[in-house]
Amino acid sequence: MSTIYFNNAPSPNYGDRKNGGTPQFLVMHYTACPTDEALATLTSKASQISSHYLISPEGEPAYKLVDESKRAWHAGVSHWRGIDDVNSFSIGIENVNWGYTHGWVPSEPSEQRPWIRYVWSSFIHAQRRWGEYLEKKGISYTNKQWHSFPAAEVEMLTILARDIIKRHKLEPENIVGHSDIAPQRKVDPGPLFPWHDLARHGVGVWPNSTTDRVHSDLPQGISIPWMQNSLQKWGYKVPQNGSLDPETQNVIRAFQMHFRPLNHEGLVDRQCEEILDLLLCARTTKLQ
Ligand SMILES: [Zn+2]
Repeated sequence: MSTIYFNNAPSPNYGDRKNGGTPQFLVMHYTACPTDEALATLTSKASQISSHYLISPEGEPAYKLVDESKRAWHAGVSHWRGIDDVNSFSIGIENVNWGYTHGWVPSEPSEQRPWIRYVWSSFIHAQRRWGEYLEKKGISYTNKQWHSFPAAEVEMLTILARDIIKRHKLEPENIVGHSDIAPQRKVDPGPLFPWHDLARHGVGVWPNSTTDRVHSDLPQGISIPWMQNSLQKWGYKVPQNGSLDPETQNVIRAFQMHFRPLNHEGLVDRQCEEILDLLLCARTTKLQ
């Protein structure tokens, strides 16, 4: 593992950590725009948003925007494991990635002239807005495409995340996505975020079928109350009303994007129950 070379890009958008907060969670985001645009937004006072770090698709350099001792403004209204002020208790990493786009996406111009880049990114943003509008209207729009994370970006993220985890002694269960802590509002870092790969390198957790299941309380069949209760145990904020309402579906979708990304429709199935049970068993075992 090499030392990380950071470009400093100080953001004015931070404050002191509140409520005695120290970093306990690591929150992953995607930018939904290219690096230059993300840097401009995250460092402009008007945007009122920031993160501690920004990683470009090329991996290097990584950008340092807010000191880890400070409270960056990346999580917004969110919740994880009983904590509402996630910003005070977390470190946020923005990963440059479009997230999803609709329709044909022209590749990034090698040309660096600002107006060419502006036209290029405006076209993609406009297409996405149009796709979202159609989706909202219930018109199926089959060209929705998620964007994968380049290997160089993932490598840098792994080095940085491992370093943060080690220094702050973060629990693997507390490495989360923005969608995990704000499932009603956010879908980043999306279903193509390499959670499995990261977990293999010591960043976060991944369900393991060899887990000792002595503490398993898996229900007989599909059970919404069990799902809601177990998701809450894992850390999510989720209704406990026994019904697969839209809010609950959003939380299930967030869980699936993280741990079963191939199918993340927000419906309960046996595999999801099994995965959640494995995760909880692994955690229970570890705490003993
Ligand atoms: Zn985010």
